[in-house]
Amino acid sequence: MNIMLLGAPGAGKGTQAAKLIDAYGFAHISTGDILRKSVANKTPLGMAAKGYMDKGELVPDMVVIGLVKARLQEPDAEGGFILDGFPRTVVQADALGTALDELGKKLDAVISIEVEKDALVERLTARRTCKQCGAIFNVVSQPETANGVCPACGGELMQRDDDTVATVTNRLDVYERSTAPLIAYYAEKGLLRPVNGNRAADDVFGDVRAIVEA
Ligand code: AMP
Repeated sequence: MNIMLLGAPGAGKGTQAAKLIDAYGFAHISTGDILRKSVANKTPLGMAAKGYMDKGELVPDMVVIGLVKARLQEPDAEGGFILDGFPRTVVQADALGTALDELGKKLDAVISIEVEKDALVERLTARRTCKQCGAIFNVVSQPETANGVCPACGGELMQRDDDTVATVTNRLDVYERSTAPLIAYYAEKGLLRPVNGNRAADDVFGDVRAIVEA
């Protein structure tokens, strides 16, 4: 099964992707993760992307489209994949459609995680990620993480460079302007499956699982 997770920054796409991978073993295709790795490794791609990411702007369409096209052809994508954070514009969505046609693949569902806007700023600025295992936490709702240590593996928790209040506001504006139109885009294709994301991650996952197993 090939799934796309759609939702504003902070809606819980990464958290639900991790749960889907645990439960079903799908390949995880996260453009944000690929770009962050490239930035950390100071590759030419990372150097080019960093300026956009730090400001909360989108990296140019052609760059991310190329990344995803290559990633879709890796062997693990054969057994089903989760697109997380891609597409983010109508141009990217059109390019994805073409790439999937060329590869003889298709999207089975676009799971749209809907969260109230006020909650998103709060979630993003409270988000911490484990440097070691990549698990995602919230220092407000999970006070056991306030000491900066990952409860899962003991690794160091860090805040993403773009999870600061200033950048978060711009990321949410960019989402409204460029990505939210994809809700109507995929509804028209009959693929949209909305999920109420204003709940605990496990409750949201109950609905996500029902969609995958429908
Ligand atoms: P994310 O981890 O999905 O929130 O992505 C972090 C940042 O990476 C975004 O704010 C963008 O700067 C960049 N990025 C990730 N995915 C895309 C995409 N599909 N198109 C353009 N930029 C992206």
